[in-house]
Amino acid sequence: MAEKEKVLVVDPEDSAREMVSSIVKEIGYEAVTAKNGKEALEILRSAPSAMMLANLKISEAEGLEWIRSALTEFPDLPIICMADQGTSGSLADLVASGAADYITKPFTADEMRARLNRVIQERSRIADLMKRALELERTNEELKRLDTLKSTFISSISHELRTPLTVIREFISLIIEGYGGPVTEDQKEYLGIANKNIMRLTNLIETLLDFSRIESGKGLKLRFEPVPVTEVVEDASMTLSQELEEKRVTLENQIDPDTPLVLIDRNRMVEVFINLIANGIKFTPPGGKIVIGSKGLTEKRDYLKVVVSDTGVGISPEDLPKIFDRFYQGQTGQTGGVTGTGLGLAITKEIIEGHRGEIHAESRLGSGASFIFTIPVLGGNTIYRLVLLPMLEEAQRDKISFSMIRVDFLDQRTKRDIVLNHEAWEGVRYALVKLVRSVDAVVPFQNNTVYIFSFNDEKMAKEIGERVQVKLTQGGYLPRGTEVQFRICSYPAEAGRAEDFLKGCRSLLRED
Ligand code: ADP
Repeated sequence: MAEKEKVLVVDPEDSAREMVSSIVKEIGYEAVTAKNGKEALEILRSAPSAMMLANLKISEAEGLEWIRSALTEFPDLPIICMADQGTSGSLADLVASGAADYITKPFTADEMRARLNRVIQERSRIADLMKRALELERTNEELKRLDTLKSTFISSISHELRTPLTVIREFISLIIEGYGGPVTEDQKEYLGIANKNIMRLTNLIETLLDFSRIESGKGLKLRFEPVPVTEVVEDASMTLSQELEEKRVTLENQIDPDTPLVLIDRNRMVEVFINLIANGIKFTPPGGKIVIGSKGLTEKRDYLKVVVSDTGVGISPEDLPKIFDRFYQGQTGQTGGVTGTGLGLAITKEIIEGHRGEIHAESRLGSGASFIFTIPVLGGNTIYRLVLLPMLEEAQRDKISFSMIRVDFLDQRTKRDIVLNHEAWEGVRYALVKLVRSVDAVVPFQNNTVYIFSFNDEKMAKEIGERVQVKLTQGGYLPRGTEVQFRICSYPAEAGRAEDFLKGCRSLLRED
């Protein structure tokens, strides 16, 4: 038989101790007794008790004080205080500070039994809750383990799937182009359908790979370059032209072609627009419309506010806070029949945040949805935050050198800045990209300056600068009489401090 739990009864009066002890035994506990506070503490410290019933006269010091200190030493011990009539005000205080209950004398056996039963019930409820909390904690640990397992699985399966798909696509293209012998028109059409579906599968896998990169904390690797935002919109709408036509949804690009250049990872930003437009198509009934517009610049003038809105089914207030969550798919019926992964918006948000921008959605059920987000505009500030700082961090982490090279174009005679025309500019960009490594960044600025950020020390940076000078002047990329000048800032310099390096870079950036 299991050992009975102990209840400690503390009372200086023998008769009272006996009466309470007998009730304790009656309800199935073992009664342990003590005459005063000192004895009581010794017992509590030597073996666990399930509960204590204490007369306030147990201690030479103030009874109430004694109970308070016992509560501090044994915070989980339920204590019922027994006291003479008239003390009840302070007793209520005692209950507020942690005692289980109190009972005033004289009391009947029934009253005492009722008190005891109540405290016992409460105690078992607490024990039950603790047990459940422990179970929940264990389940949570298990879920975390499974989540990691799932992420690793998604990542490895996506990599494994991508390679054979690329090969299949290549060979289908070879057959369509006739490299494997003559192909009839019908065969071409069927292979074209196969290829289109392989593309869909590849896109899906790309999404999963993006997701696992984000989830593993690696983040997306972004390559920033100046791009006209309208080109990004055009790229995205071209990709989706067939879907738009099939669903009979129109797309209107209201962005002003004169909008300043944005500093973005071109492919990633195209992905953002594709995701948002594709959602627009999916959730808008035939005959509807998607509009891409701009709300101008942010207050600091370094970000462009863009809005993609549709006339579709909209998003319910319950769904709205969750749509950017990974794998979340709303309750709204999809009108296109094609189901998604619930990852599109999560990745979209990640890309925008990788550009240090923000995105949110506004909608009312039944009257369309709008996605409002910010894109960095090309400028000294954004070059500093998006290109320079992350590359410097990388250099510091990997303990390698890092340099910023500023290239300017001047009139040989007047030494004034020259603004290159579009054609010359394209040539310069082309020549420069060939001169630096793929890990470096080339940021052309306002048709007369180029910033090069390169993981090289000062000596190598000088060599790059000189090569740029020679290549551009002798390569026929520039109008006659143009002088190429360059200035360098390197890390670590002799002093080796990152702040000094950044100060130097800022002054090179600020001149514009
Ligand atoms: P998916 O489209 O693959 O389900 P997303 O992450 O792109 O995943 O979108 C998550 C959810 O947000 C969608 O399932 C849908 O409920 C809601 N949603 C996204 N875009 C729109 C939109 N333009 N109109 C209505 N609901 C949308």
